[in-house]
Amino acid sequence: MVVSVIGLGLIGGSMALDLKEKGFAKKIIGVDRSASNAEDALALGIVDEISDLKNAVEQADLVIIAVPVNATLQLLPQVLDCIQKETAVTDVGSTKQVILNSVQAHPMRKYFVAAHPMSGTENSGPKAAIHNLFNNKVAIICDQENSLDWAVERVKKMYSVFNSRILYMDGAAHDEHVGYVSHLSHVISYALAVAVLDKEKSTSTIFDLAAGGFASTARLAKSSAEMWTPIFEQNAGNVLPILDIYINKLQQFKTHLQNKDFEKITEFIQEANKIRRVLNKE
Ligand code: NAP
Repeated sequence: MVVSVIGLGLIGGSMALDLKEKGFAKKIIGVDRSASNAEDALALGIVDEISDLKNAVEQADLVIIAVPVNATLQLLPQVLDCIQKETAVTDVGSTKQVILNSVQAHPMRKYFVAAHPMSGTENSGPKAAIHNLFNNKVAIICDQENSLDWAVERVKKMYSVFNSRILYMDGAAHDEHVGYVSHLSHVISYALAVAVLDKEKSTSTIFDLAAGGFASTARLAKSSAEMWTPIFEQNAGNVLPILDIYINKLQQFKTHLQNKDFEKITEFIQEANKIRRVLNKE
């Protein structure tokens, strides 16, 4: 199978590495707006060749769009416009509803299978690409009833090659769920990093103290603005009410502390400890 990957960063690059290694793709064609990322992807063996978008789509049995979600909005209709044969098109974007809406009326809509692999790191670019990034992780396929059966099967096969577990939901449910588990975590991490950086003008002090909880909670704050600002823009409708719930929890904690109500603080922490039941399932 010929697979074309548009966007040769962490996600597109990691997918390409596994698809080649596991024999799913006999050839990987790469497309990227950044000449240096394209060069790196070739040099690292992530792709076999670099091409322009039209040629990459025309040759492909499967096209993976792995660019920031604002760029996906521009590229997805262009990709669908170029389809000449039975080519399945999928994306990996962290938002789904706005992307699904954008191609609702496109004549080739059914060739598109909306998907989101729930795995990543805070690093970006082709040098961040790694093998087995999606192994044992969840991938969400959205609104598959609006896609052609063979196209859905091809995308499912790809995720089975990664050894990912596939969940199905509609775009609206996806955006709400990832708003809680992924987008809120990033807001919290960015806010924590900004609060500490504001306070501690001497970053060396932070560095000295940063090994434990701070480093793990602030890790996501290293994630790039190019990728995350468009995610917040597209999912503001979910993130705003979720933030209200979170701010309310912070306020509750603050009130207990102001009242020196340590019994309530203990209860709050014990309630939070129940997250072990969820996280220890992994
Ligand atoms: P990344 O490492 O920054 O890679 C994106 C690549 O796409 C970069 O090489 C970028 O080039 C290129 N690009 C940007 N706009 C383009 C355009 N218009 N045409 C062609 N190439 C373009 O980002 P990533 O982490 O792989 O994220 C890609 C997608 O995966 C996003 O939609 C994100 O929501 C989704 N996702 C990310 C994660 C995660 O943890 N990172 C997890 C799941 C899903 P430049 O360097 O020039 O910008």
